[in-house]
Amino acid sequence: MRWSWRIGQIAGIGIYLHLTFVILLIAVAAQHLFLGQSVSMVAMALASILGLFGIVVLHELGHAMAARRYGIGTQDITLLPIGGVARLERMPDDPKQEFVVALAGPAVNVVLATFAFALLAFLPAKSHYDQAFQLADANGDNALSFEELSARAQGLTPESFDQYDLNHDGFLTRDELLWRGANPIQRALHAILAENPYGGASASAGGSSRMVSGSLIVDFFKVNFVLVAFNLLPAFPMDGGRVLRALLAMRLDHARATQIAATVGQGMAFLFGVVGLSYSQPVLLFIALFVWMGAAAESEMAQTKSALRGVRVKDAMITKYHALSTLDPLSDAITHVLAGFQQDFPVLEEGRLVGVLTRGDLLKFIANSGQETRVGDAMQRVFETAAPMEMLDSVFHRLQESDCRTLPVVQDGQLVGLLTMDNLGEFMMLRAALRGEAARG
Ligand SMILES: [Zn+2]
Repeated sequence: MRWSWRIGQIAGIGIYLHLTFVILLIAVAAQHLFLGQSVSMVAMALASILGLFGIVVLHELGHAMAARRYGIGTQDITLLPIGGVARLERMPDDPKQEFVVALAGPAVNVVLATFAFALLAFLPAKSHYDQAFQLADANGDNALSFEELSARAQGLTPESFDQYDLNHDGFLTRDELLWRGANPIQRALHAILAENPYGGASASAGGSSRMVSGSLIVDFFKVNFVLVAFNLLPAFPMDGGRVLRALLAMRLDHARATQIAATVGQGMAFLFGVVGLSYSQPVLLFIALFVWMGAAAESEMAQTKSALRGVRVKDAMITKYHALSTLDPLSDAITHVLAGFQQDFPVLEEGRLVGVLTRGDLLKFIANSGQETRVGDAMQRVFETAAPMEMLDSVFHRLQESDCRTLPVVQDGQLVGLLTMDNLGEFMMLRAALRGEAARG
């Protein structure tokens, strides 16, 4: 992806930071500094964002490793403010494989969340909580009221108390404390332990740091839980949407399955947009945009592929084209471009195909070295080709990826035709029209 920096490599896959992600880090740091927070608190905020994205990288690696099992490589993993993107070389065509690849990412988070959950269950900090809890619970009713806590803690406000009181009954139970064990309440419990006549200073300091590590694990659990829940929403092309498409494709035609999944995905994107706007969550708006455009692009791509299925290259290629020789001047190519016949040219040397002259290179070389430059100096010598008997839907991907939007069609080393994006587009329109006629007739 453009504007990305490589920060490392895992399992042979490059990990990149996108510029917008770096801007997010700077913005968060600036916001915290602006609020007059200390450098260490800013560092904490940045560390928690980086930790979050570490988890996202593991999620993406889950997709990448599952795809590798089916022989599909991953070009890179890029971190954007809305999450991570693993660029697989392609999505598997087999719905069962797509199902596995789509679920592999969230599965990583399920494993991490389970791990955190198990840690929490056995964490010694729990007993420290219990100890502090018991000491604070003056009337012994197994719940802490605001009065009980604020008697021990300075600066505890009813608002921060309320934030921890999940069911808003005016009391904090052990569970509520454990699940949200963080700042103001934690300070209160810390103060209680510090006063604890049995514990003393060293025990309370240890208790406090273990409480902090406890709350980190709680955060770790929450992040993974949210990632699973959010990614499994059927917002194609997000993971849940891909799962939906795969399930549909096991019963329906691939293009139809994609169309349904994309429509559901765009519905979800619309919802994200509405929620993002009404709660002013810019990240959600970005995700809405990303899902909307992604769904449209995937649906179009699936329709194209299905329109191309069952057709061979020889039936769609252009057989009337102009080929240049390596010794021709670029002015020859200009004449043909201006006449509107062709944009890109195959280049021959003694009847053999040796290169492709693209319109982009043509313009570049005319500007730099004039129109008398020889075609052989401006052409691309490395290029993709197609064979006449190949199927169009498998060639389509190669055509899209190639720098020149032209694939020379070669048989036994001889140039026999050209396949271009434009002529494929026309071919598809004609086929659609003919099908319509057949349906009516
Ligand atoms: Zn994912």
